[in-house]
Amino acid sequence: MTLRYDLHCHSTCSDGVLKPAEVVRRAAARGVDVLALTDHDETSGLAEARGAAQAAGVRLIDGAELSVSWRDITLHVIALGIDPACAVLCEGLETIRSGRVHRAQRMGEELAAAGIAGAYPGAMKFCASARLVSRTHFARFLVEAGHARDTRDVFRRYLVRGKPGYVAHQWATLAHAIGWIHAAGGQAVLAHPGRYEVHGKMRELLSEFRDTGGDAIEVVSGSHTPAQYTEFARYARVFGMLASSGSDFHGPGESWADLGDMPPLPAGVTPVWKDW
Ligand code: AMP
Ligand code: MN
Ligand code: MN
Ligand code: MN
Repeated sequence: MTLRYDLHCHSTCSDGVLKPAEVVRRAAARGVDVLALTDHDETSGLAEARGAAQAAGVRLIDGAELSVSWRDITLHVIALGIDPACAVLCEGLETIRSGRVHRAQRMGEELAAAGIAGAYPGAMKFCASARLVSRTHFARFLVEAGHARDTRDVFRRYLVRGKPGYVAHQWATLAHAIGWIHAAGGQAVLAHPGRYEVHGKMRELLSEFRDTGGDAIEVVSGSHTPAQYTEFARYARVFGMLASSGSDFHGPGESWADLGDMPPLPAGVTPVWKDW
């Protein structure tokens, strides 16, 4: 029997809508056999997820999605199979999180300057803990306040470079992020590479990621098109990296894909789970 993997999703411990146990139960109900919970810069949901996974008969992989600055763009690196108690990783994640509140306050100021009042407290209402505040929480506020139709619409008109509410931020370096993941015994996966605006520098990004110790590319992502599955499968083969698959589920009706929705990995790649 071929197992169904979903190695990228979010709970209320970052910018997801469902609690960790609810994410696990939804994944189980949708036929996922192996699930990685990968909250942004955070592992606090894993304990609850583990209990639910045992009850639901799902194999849970301890994960996280680390925010990284590479040149002038933000990358996301998925950690899979980490020890969440690893001190090096915990301290690293804490340094990534520590800038979020200040950035969010500045985002509130930028939106106020553009005529949208109350965005910082408004975003906080949607998030479980201030240290986790993300653009997604601002997006939910902007939808609720009638400034956009849905979160997708928000990210076309606000919160991105050149638009109201965008605040540049310095996250972890690629070398630090991959180092922390490896210190915790995990694998480092370049998340949704199709979403980065690298302007012809994809090969540079992938070779630097690999040479820094990166293990895998997220070939199949809820935010990739089928043409991108093929494109990144080729890159994985050419660069000698493993291939991963994840929905990037954030909540019912809000995400690109629901839990377990993805097709199998394209032929010819080696799955990131080959030695699990
Ligand atoms: P942050 O880490 O605070 O910069 O927030 C990044 C999050 O915003 C991502 O993890 C997504 O959940 C969300 N996001 C970014 N771009 C989009 C988009 N185009 N559509 C929907 N959500 C997005
Ligand atoms: Mn997110
Ligand atoms: Mn991401
Ligand atoms: Mn994600």
